[in-house]
Amino acid sequence: MGTLKGFAYLALPRLSGTLERMTVPRQAKPDCPCAERPDWFRLEDDSVMRWPVLEVAEWEELRQCPGCGALWVTVWPEEIEAPPILCRPYPVDARRLRDLDRASTMRAYCLARLAEHLGELKEGKQPCRKVHCERHRLHGSTYCLEHLIAQHFGRELARLGRGDDKG
Ligand SMILES: [Zn+2]
Ligand SMILES: [Zn+2]
Repeated sequence: MGTLKGFAYLALPRLSGTLERMTVPRQAKPDCPCAERPDWFRLEDDSVMRWPVLEVAEWEELRQCPGCGALWVTVWPEEIEAPPILCRPYPVDARRLRDLDRASTMRAYCLARLAEHLGELKEGKQPCRKVHCERHRLHGSTYCLEHLIAQHFGRELARLGRGDDKG
């Protein structure tokens, strides 16, 4: 065992690296991982913060991957201490923050966060608790998906129609 000690020490970082699917070894792949990225991801290292910034707002930034030119929206949806997330902008041809459809841009993130609390997001048979809302409530909640999104992430991220979006 004693002779293997040095080897084990060297091999460990590589082994743990293979366990994290998102971590791409710097030299192994010349291309950027943008195409394989999901619609949102949490920032895991500082590399993205060195990408060129196209536009800055209070809680948002539009950054460009130097590898492929893809744009990503950096968002701080929670506490400022938490690392930001990156979302694929919608519509895909948006080049300014003001052109963003935030409900679509943040959709995958909102669904993932709600699923963390509720498990699989499934509509039940009972109506949403909000007056005049005709959607069904989700399992594990008394609200429909859109009202849950409005409540947790802000009304501008929900797809609420007219008439059922009061309060
Ligand atoms: Zn890229
Ligand atoms: Zn509702």
